[in-house]
Amino acid sequence: MKKKQIAILGSTGSIGTQALQVIEEHPDLYEAYALTANNRVELLIEQARRFQPEAVVIANEAHYATLKAALADLPIKVYAGTDALCQIVESQPIDVVLTAMVGYAGLRPTMNAIRAGKAIALANKETLVVAGELINELARQYHTPILPVDSEHSAIFQCLEPGNALSKVILTASGGPFRQLSREELAHVTKVQALKHPTWSMGAKITIDSASMMNKGFEVIEAKWLFGVQPEQIEVVVHPQSVIHSMVEFEDGAVKAQLGVPDMRLPIQYAFSYPRRLPLSGGRLDFMKCRELTFEAPDLQRFRNLALAYEALHQGGNLPCIVNAANEVVVAAFLADRISFLGMSDIIEQAMQRIPFVAQPTYEDYVATDAETRQKAAEWIR
Ligand code: NDP
Ligand code: MG
Repeated sequence: MKKKQIAILGSTGSIGTQALQVIEEHPDLYEAYALTANNRVELLIEQARRFQPEAVVIANEAHYATLKAALADLPIKVYAGTDALCQIVESQPIDVVLTAMVGYAGLRPTMNAIRAGKAIALANKETLVVAGELINELARQYHTPILPVDSEHSAIFQCLEPGNALSKVILTASGGPFRQLSREELAHVTKVQALKHPTWSMGAKITIDSASMMNKGFEVIEAKWLFGVQPEQIEVVVHPQSVIHSMVEFEDGAVKAQLGVPDMRLPIQYAFSYPRRLPLSGGRLDFMKCRELTFEAPDLQRFRNLALAYEALHQGGNLPCIVNAANEVVVAAFLADRISFLGMSDIIEQAMQRIPFVAQPTYEDYVATDAETRQKAAEWIR
């Protein structure tokens, strides 16, 4: 059988490295066709030597010479720059593109991959937050499947029943490291504290988003576009044990959940193997050890980002794009100790109020909105 050819956008990140582990578990089924990174050139070199892909792309062109020289003895094509990254996904042999790069930068390559008819294993949720409507329209036009990698959305996807409509999706949230802090305490938390997630080990940006609940806000938006549900059909439930990865409710009231140990390799592998399930090494859920599963409502006063994301989803247009761009700027500033934890929501709210609203944005509108929001948000932080 022909091996599935996989392109991993962001192979040096948390999702990217775990995707390579999945490929290693099933060398008879999967092959890394292309690997891409931004700055971690040494790791990319190591991965290229190990997995022998057809091509590698480093988005930051400053690392091109290093990468090229290090792989000179191998028949691997080496490219640099964002245009090359956007083009590589179109390569004829590729079957699946795993979008595991972080942020708005994932939008353009994802659009190209859809147009080229590649199945999308979607980790880069920012793409759906910014331009969900456009992405869905393209996927419909080019008959391209979009398979969720985000654990909550994979859980929901695993619960779906063909022909049976959902009345609700229930996204679980761990609540992050600051779940029990008061607003006064939240005012003084540091990036070191925010980077310690209780249940998941992830890249820096999504870890901050999880601490601020923006990640859950983005997942609400992501759920709308993936599953065609309305904002009022999407409920967030804080479930600190992260055993239930998410749930669906059907019209007769039946609720289905997907449970498991927190391990992103499962949703990554499922996106590769769907509709089949494959063996996967690793921990198994031991119910004798999970003595209690608890649930609480999210606190939208303390975690305003979640309320802002719902608001953006309700209003639609380019508002989610504004929220995403402002969030990328404030998270970078928080990681550079240039803004406080609560200050992040202030800037995002300001952006939502002051950046011009576009009700039915085109791709060009998203590009313009993203650029303007980044520029203004950076000015407001100074
Ligand atoms: P990481 O920060 O660990 O990795 C990001 C990857 O993207 C790296 O390979 C990085 O390259 C690359 N990258 C960053 N910026 C650019 C750019 N401008 N152009 C090209 N490549 C770039 O992130 P995660 O793996 O944690 O997250 C990736 C995506 O998956 C995010 O959208 C996140 O929301 C989503 N996700 C992640 C989960 C997780 O468990 N980690 C769970 C659910 C969703 P380099 O390292 O070389 O600089
Ligand atoms: Mg998630």
